[in-house]
Parts: sequence; structure tokens; C-alpha cells
Amino acid sequence: MVLILDPEKLQGIRAHAEQTYPEECCGLLVGQWLRQPDGDDTRQVMDCIAADNDWNEVAAAEVGALQQQPATEAAAAKTSRYWIDPKVLLQVQREARDRNLDIVGVYHSHPDHVAVPSECDRTLAWPGYSYIIVAVTQGKATDLRSWHLDEQHQFQPEVMRMGA
Ligand SMILES: [Zn+2]
Repeated sequence: MVLILDPEKLQGIRAHAEQTYPEECCGLLVGQWLRQPDGDDTRQVMDCIAADNDWNEVAAAEVGALQQQPATEAAAAKTSRYWIDPKVLLQVQREARDRNLDIVGVYHSHPDHVAVPSECDRTLAWPGYSYIIVAVTQGKATDLRSWHLDEQHQFQPEVMRMGA
């Protein structure tokens, strides 16, 4: 799978990640799927919509139930977790569809941590979406990578191509 987006949008994600440091930032990738003749799945990002990190006790309980680790999850904070309010997700999806676009992925940051999905990220991830993760080291955005789930619900690195 290939994710196409322009460098300015990547810059926007990095800036958002630095702004919310030491908490995680998050947002939605709006764009479209481009079916390739060889069957390869390519998606193009037109907009990166910043969202508030709404990680709270309700989200923690939900994730804890999924992972059967309530104590650990409840203790986690916005420095290592993110949550997008489902209402925001629906709103962005509605606006995207009005433009014949769709949500094609999610981005979030990893403050003082590598740009590799966590077990929590994997548990919550949806098949078909691209997951951009940007590492922020001492307030400075560094490594940025994109991931997608394979059939075994494991994250695989995704190729990013620059383009408008
Ligand atoms: Zn994460």
C-alpha cells in the first residue's frame, strides 16, 4: 500500500505534534482511494484535520476491556495515549463525503518514543486505514512513518510518496 501526500501536510502534522508535546496529538487523514490496475491499494491524502486528544476515563475503560488490562490502561495518560471523539469522527466523515472523499487514515504523535505503533494502537486500529505516527523528541518532531494493518491485524510499514 502506498500513501500519497504533499510535504506541506506532513509539515502540518509535525507542527501539531510539537504544539501538543508532551501530550500526544491526533488527527484524521481525509482523501481518496486510488485503485491501481495491478490491484495495489494507493490512497491520496487531501486534508489533515487536527482533532483534540480526548483520551479520558471512558476511553481508558473501553481500551482496558479490549485488552483485559484495566489497571494499566486507566493509569495511562495523554502523554502516551490518544482518543478521537466518535462525534468528531462522524462530523469529519460527513464533511468528507460531501466532497466525495473519505477518511483514509489517522495520525498521532509519540512524545519521546519511536514512530512505531504500540500494542494499544494495534488494538484500536481499523483495517483499511493508514496510520501515520510522528516521533517527538524533547519537543522536536523527528521520525515520521506510516503503517497499515495486514490480514493478521499486525502493523506493516507503508510507503509514503510525496505528491500534491
Ligand atoms: Zn501510538
